[in-house]
Amino acid sequence: MKSILVTGGAGFIGSHLVRLLVNKYPDYRIVNMDVLTYAGNLANLTDIENKENYEFVKCDICDFEKVQKVFLDYQIESVIHLAAESHVDRSIKDPFSFAQTNVMGTLSLLQAAKFAWEGNYEGKLFYHVSTDEVYGSLGGEGFFLETTAYDPHSPYSASKASSDHFVRAFQDTFGLPTVISNCSNNYGSFQFPEKLIPLFINNICNNKALPVYGKGENVRDWLYVEDHARAIDVIFHKGKQGDTYNIGGFNEWTNIDLIKVMIKTVDRLLGREEGASEKLITYVTDRAGHDLRYAIDSTKLKNELGWEPSLQFEEGIEKTVKWYLENKEWMENITSGEYEKYYEEMYSK
Ligand code: NAD
Repeated sequence: MKSILVTGGAGFIGSHLVRLLVNKYPDYRIVNMDVLTYAGNLANLTDIENKENYEFVKCDICDFEKVQKVFLDYQIESVIHLAAESHVDRSIKDPFSFAQTNVMGTLSLLQAAKFAWEGNYEGKLFYHVSTDEVYGSLGGEGFFLETTAYDPHSPYSASKASSDHFVRAFQDTFGLPTVISNCSNNYGSFQFPEKLIPLFINNICNNKALPVYGKGENVRDWLYVEDHARAIDVIFHKGKQGDTYNIGGFNEWTNIDLIKVMIKTVDRLLGREEGASEKLITYVTDRAGHDLRYAIDSTKLKNELGWEPSLQFEEGIEKTVKWYLENKEWMENITSGEYEKYYEEMYSK
């Protein structure tokens, strides 16, 4: 059995990836390493938790000795690394934890892989999952390419950029076989409701204010999370060692237009009058250092490895809204307690 270590598999994207790999590859053992921060939730994986080819290991990626032990115990042959602190607003409040997890945690995994594999890299791969935010901000025109120079602006993107550099340094210095992908904004089921789409769906349902940064003019490229998981699968199996692949949906939305689509969809599904919830839109002070526009060119991934997004945005949003409406208990379990306090602190000004 080929043992693959997926880090951060109890989070949003990680849980979709773990599900895909466990179901699609019964002859792989998928070892999910996650420390279960506020964003990690084993309830995201109940449908596969008893499968024979799935193992969960509670472990902090920064705990180098424990990580080394996991490499040995499970004879790890490849890593797909997603564990991270992932929310930009939190990185503005507490940059230290972002440097710790995203930079030092990645370094800990790289060192563990290097030691465990002892230069025998046949059949091994360290795949690092990263973000388009490392490229900085675009004006009205153009796209991020794999060759675009890094220009991160938030502590989150600076920490991810740094981790990308460490991964390339291990490839160049030690010959560790690596691959990196940089993806645009994801949406779909099981996303922690501090992120824009689940936050807004939840607030529209509960008639709560919809806090929109600045004038809502920032542009993001949105990709359905299962399409991201499929892209990771394709790159993991067919990507060229040492290469980088951009993943995106060619699907740009200003925040305010996106919010209006969500309002329309939720109102319709709840049987409310069309646009009834637009009154909830509340403009708040813009996020510090807020990048204006991200847009990914994923042509390389399409041309070289044949990946394309499978879902139209309207269909993806409909599926996503329905999922949150049908899984209220999942939402309620994580929006009580600590999260409630955080939410009040962030948005009560
Ligand atoms: P998430 O916040 O939902 O999940 C992160 C997971 O990592 C959680 O399960 C958490 O418990 C775990 N984790 C955090 N610190 C850890 C540590 N020290 N040790 C072990 N586990 C730890 O994040 P996500 O949105 O699923 O993002 C996953 C990855 O994809 C991240 O690396 C992120 O930078 C990248 N990414 C995310 C997006 C997006 O739109 N969400 C887009 C592009 C790239």
